[in-house]
Amino acid sequence: MEIQEHSTDSIITSAMDDRVSIKDSYGRSFNYLRVAVNERCNLRCVYCMPEEGIDFLSSEQLLTTDEMIKVIEILSSAGVNKIRFTGGEPLIRKDIVELVSRTSEISGINSIHMTTNGIFLEEFARPLFDAGLTGLNISLDTLDHQKFIDITRRPGLEKVLNGLQAALEIPYPSVKLNVVAMRDFNQDEIKDFAELTKDKSLIVRFIELMPFDAHQIWKTGKFLGTQKIRDELKKHYPDMKPVSGTATEHHLFHVPGYQGNIGIIPSFTRSLCSNCNRIRLTADGKIRNCLYSDSEYDLMSVLRNFGMDSDIFEIVNHAMLAKPLDGFEAQKNGDHHRESMTQIGG
Ligand code: SAM
Ligand code: SF4
Repeated sequence: MEIQEHSTDSIITSAMDDRVSIKDSYGRSFNYLRVAVNERCNLRCVYCMPEEGIDFLSSEQLLTTDEMIKVIEILSSAGVNKIRFTGGEPLIRKDIVELVSRTSEISGINSIHMTTNGIFLEEFARPLFDAGLTGLNISLDTLDHQKFIDITRRPGLEKVLNGLQAALEIPYPSVKLNVVAMRDFNQDEIKDFAELTKDKSLIVRFIELMPFDAHQIWKTGKFLGTQKIRDELKKHYPDMKPVSGTATEHHLFHVPGYQGNIGIIPSFTRSLCSNCNRIRLTADGKIRNCLYSDSEYDLMSVLRNFGMDSDIFEIVNHAMLAKPLDGFEAQKNGDHHRESMTQIGG
């Protein structure tokens, strides 16, 4: 594997001039920034957040829109062209439409996506599209009303389905449904979810449960691995065919005659780390180089102490150069001081 070594100075000069991507020591390059815009959420998914919530930071401790835009501008100059807004729940951030709109004006950004629980999506689908949003990932783990309440601890299935419908009607260039696959919870709904791809231009993606919740519900036998999900799909669709997907979505299938595709995300099995192209920015202004790593690199203090653009770039570059080989290596060194995926951005 090619080892990339270069001084920050040489990168920043060429990055600003030639749109060179940010690289790590294993030769991966990073053109995709995931921004957690808040930690708060209007749902309480059992695998993500405790019923009572977490120790939320105050709004002054979170990045402002100006600060996020500044980071995106600096990184776009270094080759980042894809942004995802996540959280917490992005649609409860008051200035979310403004954030998308200002991001869409940044030169070099050609894809702006959002991950949302969909509760407020019916209302926001159009304004976000008009502001420049190009893709939506909607999280939904069940199509049953009672099970929706059981998993999210709140009512709202109807609202999410209406939000999905609104996104499909606009239509957004990319609409995906994220389903966290869980044994004895929604294993029996895998076919029902896959059937949504029959007449909808939609990618339904089954995601492995990950061990990131303070209460560790993933230890309760709910984990359902990629192989099992694929076996279940094969049972119902023996002639489904593999198709090519994005870098971290290689398990992508198509049922002949169906409009959409079906994906499996091995987020716990971590078989796609070698394709990783992601930089993560937490709501409190820290860079993380891997979902499974607890190392964080503080941008907030530099942003708030009149740091120069080159200082910001240097922190991101330093963080990504320190990226571990894969999620297993990253986890070895971790002490898991974050209580919920909402603090990392999923
Ligand atoms: N609130 C938004 C939503 O739910 O789409 C965005 C933030 S949420 C943290 C992002 C994604 O992370 C969601 O698709 C959610 O299902 C997933 N997620 C959260 N905790 C998880 C866990 N322990 N294992 C697997 N996926 C998880
Ligand atoms: Fe909220 Fe998303 Fe976490 Fe569910 S997964 S509690 S919707 S942040």
